[in-house]
Amino acid sequence: MPMHRIPDSSTCFLPRFCFRQALNLRFLLPVFFALTATAAAQNNALLFTHQERSLQPGEVVVFEIRSSRPMRNMEISAFERSFPAFTENEGLLWTCLVGIDRDTKPGKYGFKLEGAGTDGAPVSTQGTLNVLPKEFPSRSLTVEPKYVSPPADVLDRIRKERELVDSIFTAITAEKLWHGSFQAPVPGEVISAFGKRTVFNGQPRSSHSGTDFRGAVGTPIRAPNSGRVVWTGDLYYTGKTVILDHGQGLYSYLGHMSAITVKEGDRVETGNIVGKVGATGRVTGPHLHWTVRLRISRVDPVSLLTVLGKSRQK
Ligand SMILES: [Zn+2]
Repeated sequence: MPMHRIPDSSTCFLPRFCFRQALNLRFLLPVFFALTATAAAQNNALLFTHQERSLQPGEVVVFEIRSSRPMRNMEISAFERSFPAFTENEGLLWTCLVGIDRDTKPGKYGFKLEGAGTDGAPVSTQGTLNVLPKEFPSRSLTVEPKYVSPPADVLDRIRKERELVDSIFTAITAEKLWHGSFQAPVPGEVISAFGKRTVFNGQPRSSHSGTDFRGAVGTPIRAPNSGRVVWTGDLYYTGKTVILDHGQGLYSYLGHMSAITVKEGDRVETGNIVGKVGATGRVTGPHLHWTVRLRISRVDPVSLLTVLGKSRQK
């Protein structure tokens, strides 16, 4: 996991992409979608379109699939993963979220859309996503050596925590637990963007797995959507942390809290308070770190808010 440091305003590497501006994007979405709904194809009984902020690493792509006859299931195979679709229209209209992992290389990627009709007859079609390159910002920092190389006595703890978190993200709850639109867990702006690469004391470290939002200690942290609290605890890098399972392989990971106000197994609705902003773990100041995983793919929470934020009600 990356180290999290708070940039001051002069080091905010994306000053033009603060969260409030991301919110403003919502008003542009109809036009944006019109420009980026890049594919439509008909094969057998399936017609699909997809919408996204951009076809780049770290983005969420929302597919809408129409079938001329009711289907009992539907999924998309892409990027060597399987993304389940869900229907809210008796099997005629399906939605599927596909994640383009942060480390995806640019290029053309084929995908396959498969389902079965209510009579069990298989239906499929396929297409191609042309993933464009993305230059994530980077910066160099000089910090105390202990921030670069953890002490030997904590390396085992870090390894075990990584294995624990990976095991959570790879477990798939078949049921879809989220609904409606996603909302930011705190009102503060983005202060450290997804995918940022930091070189500490000349040594590159893994790029940012989530997005950091500004927040004062004690600011309530709200569930970005409904789900189940799958894990709470104290992790070396992200301190007091809550992991929410939104179902179908979609997870929110919220870190650096000063207090956790939910417990494992709790069901939460969108906007329920799950904790308070803090500065626990490896930070230099209080903020909220939010990671989103979609079928293991590391995607930008702001991408999720853009394609499934308040402008999009389902
Ligand atoms: Zn972070």
